[in-house]
Amino acid sequence: MKLQEYQAKEILKRYDARIQMGEVASTPDEAEAIAKKYSAPVVVKAQVLVGGRGKAGGIKLAQTPQEAREKAEKILGMEIKGLVVKKVLVAKAVDIENESYVGIILDRKSKKIVIMVSPEGGIDIEEVAKKTPEKIYKAYIDPFIGLRPYTAQYLIRKLYDDPELIKRGILKLMKLYNVFIGVDAQLVEVNPLVVTGDGNLCCVDAKIILDDSALFRHPEFENWRDPDEYSREELEAKEAGLSFVKLSGNIGCVVNGAGLAMATMDLIKHYGGEPANFLDVGGSSNPQKAVKALDIITREKGVKVILFNIFGGITRCDDIANGLVEAIKQFKPEIPIIARLTGTNQEEGRRILKEAQIPCLLQWMKWSGKRFQSLHNMERRCPKAIEPRNLRG
Ligand code: GDP
Ligand code: MN
Repeated sequence: MKLQEYQAKEILKRYDARIQMGEVASTPDEAEAIAKKYSAPVVVKAQVLVGGRGKAGGIKLAQTPQEAREKAEKILGMEIKGLVVKKVLVAKAVDIENESYVGIILDRKSKKIVIMVSPEGGIDIEEVAKKTPEKIYKAYIDPFIGLRPYTAQYLIRKLYDDPELIKRGILKLMKLYNVFIGVDAQLVEVNPLVVTGDGNLCCVDAKIILDDSALFRHPEFENWRDPDEYSREELEAKEAGLSFVKLSGNIGCVVNGAGLAMATMDLIKHYGGEPANFLDVGGSSNPQKAVKALDIITREKGVKVILFNIFGGITRCDDIANGLVEAIKQFKPEIPIIARLTGTNQEEGRRILKEAQIPCLLQWMKWSGKRFQSLHNMERRCPKAIEPRNLRG
């Protein structure tokens, strides 16, 4: 779960890491009031779940509360990388002496936590990694040992020379590491970490991604979820117990098991098609899941054809078939559906489809025209026929 900057900063504050103080506003009025409260100059910052807001014009300095209002008016409603700005953070401006980068992530390969720092702060870290990778310094942390002050010192010395700053920097890194562990984060990033005019260290930007699998340990964050992080369909699927990820292609997929779902997408790509989604109906056997899956996919605009790829294990083909029949009755999809049902209760599943007058066994159904053509026959005549590109339209 990605957090907005203001939420990430709220967490940093709880862990006693100094942040640029401010509050969030949804209207220009509120922005003006906050600017008064924190006594301008302030920065007005778009709250959207993408980076590079500064470059996109989503971050503006305001000298007076009146100006904060005007800037908020401009930024609210603005679109940044496809996301509409609904909130702005109005924060007390800090005078910046120096900007650096600090990021803490989980590295699956080394099974360790990686802390990265760079004196090239304030700009996109991907850009630094591309152009001057030697300016990124890393330390791999064994989670059972944790971040030790000597490792923090090694990293901080890459950023500062001043002994006082080094001392403060070590403490800051330890606090950020505590945040990472404490909230079960996948990422904690402060870019820029700033040295202010009075020699303090301040987190001017903050990004936190929480580990969804550990969210149950942090019920306090459950309603922090930004509805924009997932599409409406993705949220609906989540509620129905389906793993669904919207993609940009036109072949809808309904598959059981994440591995088969990935393999199915690979196959579609291999033959020149583009999957419209990843959908795993899961291992459990419940016709309602197939109904919900079809409900979600048939509502997607760009979908031209739907592929059911079921290899029955715990999932039973008869349950999927029942779901399919029910869903076709309910939603009357006007696009072709291809169902492959093999494994547990496959005969039963095919019988159900047949009885509902949906011939199956790798069959291609032109549902709208009630014209059925057996893919099986097509395959015999022309092995290329099952390629998704031949099924378009
Ligand atoms: P991002 O563009 O989405 O990463 O947003 P940031 O919060 O990192 O802000 C982008 C840049 O704006 C920072 O790197 C700073 O240079 C600048 N900035 C943000 N807040 C302040 C501030 O309070 N004072 C000054 N002088 N610059 C700021
Ligand atoms: Mn930033």
